[in-house]
Amino acid sequence: MYSAPYENDPVYQMAVKQLREAASILGLSEDVVEALSHPEKLVQVKITIRRDNGKIATFIGWRSQHNSALGPYKGGIRYTPNATAGETVALSMWMTWKNALAGLPYGGGKGAVRVNPKELSQRELEELSRKYFAAIAKEVGPDIDVPAPDVYTNPQIMAWYYDEYSKIVGYSAWGVVTAKPVELGGLQARVISTGYGVALTAREAARKALGGIEGKTVAVHGFGNVGMYAAKYLAKWGAIVVAISDSKGYIYDPKGLNIDEVIKVKEQTDSVVNYRGGDVKVSNNHMELLELPVDILVPAAIENVITQDNVSRVKAKIIAEGANGPTTPEADKILHNKGVIVIPDILANAGGVTMSWIEWAHNRMGCYLTDDEAIARLDEIMTRNFHKVFDEWQKKYSTYPMRMAAYAIAVDRVVKAMKLRGWI
Ligand code: GLU
Repeated sequence: MYSAPYENDPVYQMAVKQLREAASILGLSEDVVEALSHPEKLVQVKITIRRDNGKIATFIGWRSQHNSALGPYKGGIRYTPNATAGETVALSMWMTWKNALAGLPYGGGKGAVRVNPKELSQRELEELSRKYFAAIAKEVGPDIDVPAPDVYTNPQIMAWYYDEYSKIVGYSAWGVVTAKPVELGGLQARVISTGYGVALTAREAARKALGGIEGKTVAVHGFGNVGMYAAKYLAKWGAIVVAISDSKGYIYDPKGLNIDEVIKVKEQTDSVVNYRGGDVKVSNNHMELLELPVDILVPAAIENVITQDNVSRVKAKIIAEGANGPTTPEADKILHNKGVIVIPDILANAGGVTMSWIEWAHNRMGCYLTDDEAIARLDEIMTRNFHKVFDEWQKKYSTYPMRMAAYAIAVDRVVKAMKLRGWI
């Protein structure tokens, strides 16, 4: 059996474990599981840049193209200090399932550069971004692989990628990346779309299990783009957001936080812990937020935060996974046995890539949508997908966590496409 260097990575192992569980539910054979366990292509690149102090700095980056049975690879690129090849492969596999589940005409891909972007100047960040994209330019393209932002990347970085690629191919290749700035064919609504989708799935789950979202208490772990807009829309739809964290700690007010104020404090001081008002309590241990007595928990930061170690203290009745991979498979089972609904990442956070598809499709037709039209489309697609997964779960897979229903639908679609194409 083939053994790849990324196989010891714990995030990769978690992704394969989830795949194996779905495969056993679907009755897939071992050879098919093996075929799905590895990316079609994994590229590693070296990027050297000139620092502002005159020294050369070297960075390693990857692009993992997991599966293209349903269409061009699609998925973000992250800039994080702990990025690894294994994590990138795992994330690309999750994109395959996420895109299939959302019914998008895409396979799954993901990229990463191992860097702490907070330590780079804007000029250094631009040089790194342009050189990374130039290094993977042969692997990407509007019909090949379409990147987008992920952790610590943003529309400005997409603009540099787009420009770099367009220079290489000699035309304005709008469709090569999504979540571009509005001036370059992006949609304003892309910025809110992942958080909006997370809030939407929590809203629908609350309607099913808690009699509605109004008045339900919410804790949001992580206040980047995803957590911020999830909090904003949940509050807008009548939930009470009582706790919010970032890497410096968390704030908690059982009577509810003023989200617009928290956003302002985050933007002005770089951390939510500087928020004051009401009866707010401040703590420097963000992990404690996961254990607060709330109805809905939104983990929107990083992988592996709800584990065997803390799951017994988690009190929420609904968990909407804004981050990719926040719950380990062991914790997922325990939560299921306690009757907690965990809306899996590949369903809950698909709003971003769904909006990416709306952008990409319009770029290729050379026309625009208004924001309201784009959000209405997103709402319709995600509401439909949520109910499809929820209903299948109740009907066919209710002895498993909801994640397995989502996986079963997604893996089945990919396997069918592979069979039709004659790959397996
Ligand atoms: N990085 C986002 C995700 O994990 C979005 C990907 C995209 O828009 O292609 O889903």
